[in-house]
Amino acid sequence: METATKVNLLDFAPAALTAWFKELGEPAFRAQQVFKWIHQQGVSDFSAMTNISKALRARLAEIAEVRGPEIVMEQPSSDGTRKWLLRLDDGQCIEAVFIPESSRGTLCVSSQVGCALDCTFCSTARQGFNRNLSVHEIIGQLWSTEHRLRQESGGERVISNVVMMGMGEPLLNYDNVVSALKIMLDDNAYGLSKRRVTLSTSGVVPALDRLSSEVDVALAVSLHAPNDDLRDQLVPLNRKYPIAELLAACQRFLDSKAQRDRITIEYVMLDGVNDSPQHAHELARLLRGLPSKVNLIPFNPFPETRYRRSSRQAIDRFRDILYHKGINTITRKTRGDDIDAACGQLAGKVNDRSRREIHFARIEKAS
Ligand code: SAH
Repeated sequence: METATKVNLLDFAPAALTAWFKELGEPAFRAQQVFKWIHQQGVSDFSAMTNISKALRARLAEIAEVRGPEIVMEQPSSDGTRKWLLRLDDGQCIEAVFIPESSRGTLCVSSQVGCALDCTFCSTARQGFNRNLSVHEIIGQLWSTEHRLRQESGGERVISNVVMMGMGEPLLNYDNVVSALKIMLDDNAYGLSKRRVTLSTSGVVPALDRLSSEVDVALAVSLHAPNDDLRDQLVPLNRKYPIAELLAACQRFLDSKAQRDRITIEYVMLDGVNDSPQHAHELARLLRGLPSKVNLIPFNPFPETRYRRSSRQAIDRFRDILYHKGINTITRKTRGDDIDAACGQLAGKVNDRSRREIHFARIEKAS
Protein backbone atom coordinates (compact mmCIF):
# COMPACT_ATOMS: atom_id res chain seq x y z
CA MET A 1 0.00 0.00 0.00
CA GLU A 2 1.33 3.40 -0.91
CA THR A 3 0.80 4.96 2.53
CA ALA A 4 2.90 2.31 4.23
CA THR A 5 6.10 3.91 3.00
CA LYS A 6 5.19 7.44 4.00
CA VAL A 7 6.58 9.09 7.11
CA ASN A 8 3.84 9.73 9.63
CA LEU A 9 4.50 13.22 11.00
CA LEU A 10 2.58 12.36 14.18
CA ASP A 11 5.69 10.38 15.10
CA PHE A 12 7.77 13.49 15.68
CA ALA A 13 8.28 15.51 18.84
CA PRO A 14 9.32 19.11 18.04
CA ALA A 15 13.08 18.54 17.91
CA ALA A 16 12.71 15.45 15.75
CA LEU A 17 10.40 17.26 13.32
CA THR A 18 12.87 20.12 13.03
CA ALA A 19 15.63 17.63 12.26
CA TRP A 20 13.47 15.94 9.62
CA PHE A 21 12.72 19.27 7.92
CA LYS A 22 16.40 20.14 8.04
CA GLU A 23 17.16 17.02 6.05
CA LEU A 24 14.69 18.27 3.48
CA GLY A 25 16.63 21.52 3.40
CA GLU A 26 13.90 23.44 5.17
CA PRO A 27 14.40 25.86 8.08
CA ALA A 28 13.23 25.23 11.63
CA PHE A 29 10.33 27.65 11.46
CA ARG A 30 8.82 25.57 8.67
CA ALA A 31 8.72 22.55 10.97
CA GLN A 32 7.02 24.71 13.56
CA GLN A 33 4.38 25.87 11.08
CA VAL A 34 3.57 22.32 10.07
CA PHE A 35 3.58 21.18 13.70
CA LYS A 36 0.97 23.84 14.51
CA TRP A 37 -1.21 22.83 11.58
CA ILE A 38 -1.12 19.23 12.65
CA HIS A 39 -1.64 19.53 16.38
CA GLN A 40 -3.34 22.88 16.93
CA GLN A 41 -5.62 22.76 13.91
CA GLY A 42 -5.95 19.02 13.48
CA VAL A 43 -5.14 19.34 9.78
CA SER A 44 -3.95 16.22 8.00
CA ASP A 45 -4.25 17.47 4.42
CA PHE A 46 -1.04 19.23 3.41
CA SER A 47 -2.80 21.24 0.71
CA ALA A 48 -4.70 23.07 3.48
CA MET A 49 -1.47 24.31 5.09
CA THR A 50 -1.74 27.66 3.36
CA ASN A 51 1.27 29.48 4.82
CA ILE A 52 3.58 26.96 3.17
CA SER A 53 4.69 27.11 -0.44
CA LYS A 54 2.74 25.02 -2.93
CA ALA A 55 5.90 23.20 -3.95
CA LEU A 56 6.66 22.11 -0.41
CA ARG A 57 3.07 21.12 0.20
CA ALA A 58 3.20 18.88 -2.86
CA ARG A 59 6.50 17.38 -1.75
CA LEU A 60 5.14 16.67 1.73
CA ALA A 61 2.06 15.01 0.28
CA GLU A 62 4.36 12.66 -1.65
CA ILE A 63 6.59 11.58 1.19
CA ALA A 64 4.64 12.17 4.38
CA GLU A 65 1.26 11.74 5.98
CA VAL A 66 -0.56 12.75 9.14
CA ARG A 67 -2.59 9.80 10.28
CA GLY A 68 -3.95 8.95 13.70
CA PRO A 69 -5.57 5.69 14.70
CA GLU A 70 -8.95 5.29 13.06
CA ILE A 71 -11.95 5.67 15.33
CA VAL A 72 -13.95 2.54 14.60
CA MET A 73 -16.46 2.70 17.40
CA GLU A 74 -17.66 5.23 19.86
CA GLN A 75 -19.55 4.37 23.00
CA PRO A 76 -21.12 7.00 25.21
CA SER A 77 -21.74 6.18 28.87
CA SER A 78 -24.73 7.35 30.87
CA ASP A 79 -22.44 9.56 32.97
CA GLY A 80 -20.98 11.41 29.97
CA THR A 81 -17.84 9.32 29.75
CA ARG A 82 -17.00 8.30 26.18
CA LYS A 83 -14.98 5.39 25.04
CA TRP A 84 -13.49 5.07 21.60
CA LEU A 85 -12.23 1.97 20.00
CA LEU A 86 -9.24 2.90 17.85
CA ARG A 87 -7.83 0.69 15.13
CA LEU A 88 -4.08 0.58 14.56
CA ASP A 89 -2.39 -0.15 11.24
CA ASP A 90 -1.84 -3.80 12.11
CA GLY A 91 -5.54 -4.23 12.77
CA GLN A 92 -5.28 -4.37 16.55
CA CYS A 93 -7.52 -2.14 18.60
CA ILE A 94 -6.91 0.02 21.63
CA GLU A 95 -9.26 2.16 23.64
CA ALA A 96 -9.15 5.78 24.72
CA VAL A 97 -11.58 7.19 27.26
CA PHE A 98 -12.76 10.77 27.71
CA ILE A 99 -14.06 11.79 31.13
CA PRO A 100 -15.81 15.17 31.25
CA GLU A 101 -16.17 17.03 34.55
CA SER A 102 -17.37 20.52 35.26
CA SER A 103 -13.90 22.05 35.44
CA ARG A 104 -11.92 19.82 33.12
CA GLY A 105 -12.00 17.15 30.47
CA THR A 106 -9.62 14.24 30.89
CA LEU A 107 -8.42 11.83 28.24
CA CYS A 108 -7.15 8.47 29.43
CA VAL A 109 -4.41 7.31 27.05
CA SER A 110 -2.88 3.87 26.46
CA SER A 111 0.83 3.23 26.03
CA GLN A 112 0.91 -0.44 24.98
CA VAL A 113 -1.31 -3.01 23.35
CA GLY A 114 -1.97 -5.13 26.42
CA CYS A 115 0.42 -5.15 29.33
CA ALA A 116 3.30 -7.32 30.49
CA LEU A 117 3.04 -6.64 34.20
CA ASP A 118 0.35 -9.10 35.21
CA CYS A 119 -1.15 -7.20 38.14
CA THR A 120 -3.67 -9.66 39.52
CA PHE A 121 -6.60 -7.22 39.84
CA CYS A 122 -6.31 -5.65 36.36
CA SER A 123 -8.27 -6.87 33.37
CA THR A 124 -5.69 -5.62 30.87
CA ALA A 125 -3.18 -8.00 32.44
CA ARG A 126 -5.38 -10.94 31.57
CA GLN A 127 -5.11 -10.06 27.90
CA GLY A 128 -1.35 -10.45 27.98
CA PHE A 129 1.14 -8.23 26.21
CA ASN A 130 1.27 -7.68 22.50
CA ARG A 131 3.48 -4.70 21.68
CA ASN A 132 4.48 -1.14 22.45
CA LEU A 133 2.59 1.70 20.82
CA SER A 134 4.55 4.01 18.51
CA VAL A 135 4.65 7.75 19.10
CA HIS A 136 2.00 8.34 16.46
CA GLU A 137 -0.24 5.75 18.05
CA ILE A 138 0.09 7.38 21.48
CA ILE A 139 -0.23 11.03 20.48
CA GLY A 140 -2.74 9.93 17.82
CA GLN A 141 -5.19 9.03 20.60
CA LEU A 142 -5.18 12.69 21.62
CA TRP A 143 -5.04 14.01 18.05
CA SER A 144 -7.97 11.94 16.80
CA THR A 145 -10.25 12.45 19.79
CA GLU A 146 -9.42 16.11 20.44
CA HIS A 147 -10.35 17.11 16.92
CA ARG A 148 -13.46 14.93 16.98
CA LEU A 149 -14.61 16.55 20.23
CA ARG A 150 -13.68 20.01 19.01
CA GLN A 151 -15.86 19.68 15.94
CA GLU A 152 -18.79 18.89 18.19
CA SER A 153 -18.12 21.79 20.54
CA GLY A 154 -17.86 24.34 17.74
CA GLY A 155 -14.08 24.59 17.89
CA GLU A 156 -13.57 24.92 21.60
CA ARG A 157 -10.79 22.94 23.30
CA VAL A 158 -12.31 20.15 25.35
CA ILE A 159 -9.43 18.01 26.56
CA SER A 160 -7.60 19.85 29.34
CA ASN A 161 -5.96 16.88 31.06
CA VAL A 162 -4.28 13.68 29.98
CA VAL A 163 -3.65 10.69 32.19
CA MET A 164 -1.41 7.87 30.98
CA MET A 165 -3.64 5.37 32.73
CA GLY A 166 -5.03 3.35 29.86
CA MET A 167 -3.65 0.02 28.78
CA GLY A 168 -0.01 -0.72 29.39
CA GLU A 169 2.89 0.36 31.56
CA PRO A 170 4.12 3.69 30.16
CA LEU A 171 7.62 3.40 31.60
CA LEU A 172 8.13 0.12 29.74
CA ASN A 173 7.62 2.04 26.49
CA TYR A 174 9.84 4.82 27.64
CA ASP A 175 11.12 6.61 24.52
CA ASN A 176 7.81 6.70 22.70
CA VAL A 177 5.90 7.82 25.78
CA VAL A 178 8.39 10.62 26.49
CA SER A 179 8.14 11.90 22.90
CA ALA A 180 4.35 11.86 23.08
CA LEU A 181 4.41 13.69 26.43
CA LYS A 182 6.65 16.37 24.93
CA ILE A 183 4.10 16.94 22.17
CA MET A 184 1.26 17.18 24.70
CA LEU A 185 3.12 19.87 26.66
CA ASP A 186 4.35 21.88 23.68
CA ASP A 187 2.75 25.30 23.23
CA ASN A 188 2.71 24.85 19.47
CA ALA A 189 0.70 21.66 19.91
CA TYR A 190 -1.69 21.04 22.81
CA GLY A 191 0.03 23.30 25.36
CA LEU A 192 -1.19 21.22 28.27
CA SER A 193 0.09 22.31 31.64
CA LYS A 194 2.61 19.95 33.18
CA ARG A 195 0.33 19.59 36.18
CA ARG A 196 -2.44 18.38 33.90
CA VAL A 197 -0.50 15.57 32.32
CA THR A 198 -0.09 12.58 34.61
CA LEU A 199 1.96 9.48 34.05
CA SER A 200 0.84 6.51 36.10
CA THR A 201 3.33 3.73 36.76
CA SER A 202 3.55 0.49 38.67
CA GLY A 203 7.07 1.54 39.57
CA VAL A 204 9.81 0.83 37.03
CA VAL A 205 12.46 2.49 39.16
CA PRO A 206 15.33 3.05 36.67
CA ALA A 207 12.95 4.55 34.11
CA LEU A 208 11.40 6.74 36.79
CA ASP A 209 14.83 8.14 37.56
CA ARG A 210 15.40 8.94 33.89
CA LEU A 211 11.99 10.51 33.49
CA SER A 212 12.51 13.45 35.80
CA SER A 213 15.44 14.74 33.77
CA GLU A 214 13.67 14.48 30.43
CA VAL A 215 10.12 15.68 30.78
CA ASP A 216 8.19 17.46 33.47
CA VAL A 217 4.83 15.86 34.19
CA ALA A 218 2.86 14.84 37.25
CA LEU A 219 3.45 11.37 38.62
CA ALA A 220 1.02 8.80 39.96
CA VAL A 221 2.29 5.57 41.46
CA SER A 222 0.19 2.42 41.66
CA LEU A 223 1.05 1.26 45.16
CA HIS A 224 -2.04 -0.76 46.14
CA ALA A 225 -0.46 -2.34 49.21
CA PRO A 226 1.36 -1.06 52.30
CA ASN A 227 3.90 -3.89 52.58
CA ASP A 228 6.03 -6.01 50.25
CA ASP A 229 4.35 -9.32 51.05
CA LEU A 230 1.01 -8.09 49.85
CA ARG A 231 2.35 -5.96 47.01
CA ASP A 232 4.38 -8.90 45.70
CA GLN A 233 1.07 -10.66 45.17
CA LEU A 234 -0.89 -7.78 43.67
CA VAL A 235 1.82 -6.10 41.60
CA PRO A 236 4.44 -8.72 40.66
CA LEU A 237 6.84 -5.96 39.54
CA ASN A 238 7.31 -5.34 43.27
CA ARG A 239 9.56 -8.39 43.46
CA LYS A 240 12.00 -6.50 41.29
CA TYR A 241 11.52 -3.03 42.73
CA PRO A 242 10.21 -3.33 46.30
CA ILE A 243 8.35 -0.58 48.09
CA ALA A 244 11.34 1.03 49.82
CA GLU A 245 13.18 1.41 46.51
CA LEU A 246 10.08 2.72 44.79
CA LEU A 247 9.34 5.34 47.44
CA ALA A 248 12.99 6.43 47.45
CA ALA A 249 12.70 6.95 43.69
CA CYS A 250 9.51 8.97 44.26
CA GLN A 251 11.41 11.20 46.67
CA ARG A 252 14.22 11.68 44.15
CA PHE A 253 11.61 12.56 41.53
CA LEU A 254 10.19 15.26 43.78
CA ASP A 255 13.64 16.55 44.71
CA SER A 256 14.67 16.91 41.09
CA LYS A 257 12.41 19.89 40.41
CA ALA A 258 11.62 22.57 42.91
CA GLN A 259 8.09 23.14 41.67
CA ARG A 260 6.97 19.54 41.96
CA ASP A 261 4.90 19.40 45.06
CA ARG A 262 3.66 15.87 45.55
CA ILE A 263 3.02 12.47 44.10
CA THR A 264 -0.32 10.76 43.73
CA ILE A 265 -0.44 7.34 45.32
CA GLU A 266 -3.06 5.07 43.74
CA TYR A 267 -4.58 2.41 45.90
CA VAL A 268 -7.21 0.04 44.55
CA MET A 269 -9.70 -1.01 47.24
CA LEU A 270 -10.06 -4.80 47.28
CA ASP A 271 -12.53 -6.27 49.71
CA GLY A 272 -10.81 -8.22 52.49
CA VAL A 273 -7.41 -7.98 50.77
CA ASN A 274 -5.85 -4.56 51.39
CA ASP A 275 -8.66 -2.50 52.92
CA SER A 276 -8.49 -3.06 56.69
CA PRO A 277 -7.80 -0.32 59.26
CA GLN A 278 -4.42 -1.98 59.89
CA HIS A 279 -3.55 -1.57 56.24
CA ALA A 280 -4.53 2.09 56.43
CA HIS A 281 -2.29 2.67 59.45
CA GLU A 282 0.57 0.84 57.76
CA LEU A 283 0.10 2.97 54.64
CA ALA A 284 0.08 6.16 56.68
CA ARG A 285 3.38 5.14 58.32
CA LEU A 286 4.88 4.31 54.95
CA LEU A 287 3.99 7.65 53.43
CA ARG A 288 5.17 9.71 56.38
CA GLY A 289 7.67 12.19 55.04
CA LEU A 290 6.82 11.70 51.35
CA PRO A 291 4.79 14.61 49.98
CA SER A 292 1.86 12.72 48.55
CA LYS A 293 -1.85 12.46 48.21
CA VAL A 294 -3.75 9.21 48.07
CA ASN A 295 -6.36 8.25 45.48
CA LEU A 296 -8.47 5.36 46.66
CA ILE A 297 -9.84 3.53 43.62
CA PRO A 298 -12.87 1.32 44.23
CA PHE A 299 -12.05 -1.94 42.45
CA ASN A 300 -13.81 -2.35 39.12
CA PRO A 301 -14.79 -5.97 38.72
CA PHE A 302 -14.51 -7.89 35.45
CA PRO A 303 -15.58 -11.42 34.52
CA GLU A 304 -13.84 -14.24 36.35
CA THR A 305 -11.94 -12.02 38.75
CA ARG A 306 -11.38 -13.36 42.23
CA TYR A 307 -11.66 -9.89 43.80
CA ARG A 308 -14.58 -7.84 45.00
CA ARG A 309 -14.91 -4.12 45.51
CA SER A 310 -14.52 -2.94 49.12
CA SER A 311 -17.70 -1.78 50.79
CA ARG A 312 -18.46 1.91 50.99
CA GLN A 313 -17.95 1.74 54.77
CA ALA A 314 -14.53 0.10 54.43
CA ILE A 315 -13.43 2.72 51.90
CA ASP A 316 -14.66 5.60 54.07
CA ARG A 317 -13.02 4.15 57.16
CA PHE A 318 -9.73 3.73 55.29
CA ARG A 319 -9.93 7.29 54.00
CA ASP A 320 -10.68 8.69 57.47
CA ILE A 321 -7.68 6.97 59.03
CA LEU A 322 -5.35 8.42 56.40
CA TYR A 323 -7.01 11.78 56.71
CA HIS A 324 -6.50 11.87 60.48
CA LYS A 325 -2.85 11.07 59.93
CA GLY A 326 -2.63 14.23 57.85
CA ILE A 327 -2.67 12.57 54.41
CA ASN A 328 -4.79 14.18 51.76
CA THR A 329 -7.02 11.36 50.51
CA ILE A 330 -9.80 11.20 47.98
CA THR A 331 -11.91 8.35 46.72
CA ARG A 332 -11.93 8.27 42.95
CA LYS A 333 -15.37 8.32 41.41
CA THR A 334 -15.83 5.36 39.18
CA ARG A 335 -16.77 6.52 35.74
CA GLY A 336 -17.89 4.75 32.64
CA ASP A 337 -18.79 1.56 34.52
CA ASP A 338 -21.57 0.70 32.12
CA ILE A 339 -19.23 0.66 29.11
CA ASP A 340 -16.30 -1.14 30.76
CA ALA A 341 -14.23 2.02 30.52
CA ALA A 342 -13.31 2.26 34.18
CA CYS A 343 -9.76 1.64 35.44
CA GLY A 344 -8.46 -1.78 34.60
CA GLN A 345 -11.26 -2.55 32.23
CA LEU A 346 -9.63 -1.33 29.05
CA ALA A 347 -9.04 -4.76 27.75
CA GLY A 348 -9.15 -3.93 24.06
CA LYS A 349 -8.62 -6.84 21.76
CA VAL A 350 -5.20 -8.16 22.39
CA ASN A 351 -3.69 -11.40 21.39
CA ASP A 352 -0.79 -12.37 23.54
CA ARG A 353 1.99 -13.21 21.13
CA SER A 354 4.74 -12.52 23.52
CA ARG A 355 5.12 -15.19 26.16
CA ARG A 356 4.96 -12.57 28.83
CA GLU A 357 7.92 -13.57 31.00
CA ILE A 358 10.42 -13.47 28.19
CA HIS A 359 9.30 -10.08 27.05
CA PHE A 360 9.21 -8.73 30.55
CA ALA A 361 12.73 -9.88 31.29
CA ARG A 362 14.03 -8.33 28.09
CA ILE A 363 12.43 -4.95 28.62
CA GLU A 364 13.43 -4.83 32.23
CA LYS A 365 17.03 -5.39 31.35
CA ALA A 366 16.93 -2.60 28.81
CA SER A 367 15.48 0.03 31.14
N1 SAH B 1 0.49 0.51 34.26
C1 SAH B 1 0.18 1.78 34.83
C2 SAH B 1 -0.99 2.48 34.21
C3 SAH B 1 -2.26 1.70 33.90
S1 SAH B 1 -3.43 1.32 35.15
C4 SAH B 1 0.01 1.66 36.33
O1 SAH B 1 0.05 0.55 36.83
O2 SAH B 1 -0.11 2.67 37.00
C5 SAH B 1 -4.15 2.75 35.77
C6 SAH B 1 -4.63 2.58 37.22
O3 SAH B 1 -5.80 1.75 37.33
C7 SAH B 1 -3.58 1.91 38.08
O4 SAH B 1 -3.49 2.49 39.34
C8 SAH B 1 -4.13 0.52 38.15
O5 SAH B 1 -3.55 -0.19 39.18
C9 SAH B 1 -5.61 0.76 38.32
N2 SAH B 1 -6.43 -0.44 38.08
C10 SAH B 1 -6.13 -1.50 37.32
N3 SAH B 1 -7.11 -2.40 37.33
C11 SAH B 1 -8.08 -1.92 38.11
C12 SAH B 1 -9.38 -2.39 38.49
N4 SAH B 1 -9.87 -3.55 38.04
N5 SAH B 1 -10.12 -1.59 39.29
C13 SAH B 1 -9.65 -0.41 39.71
N6 SAH B 1 -8.44 0.09 39.38
C14 SAH B 1 -7.66 -0.65 38.59
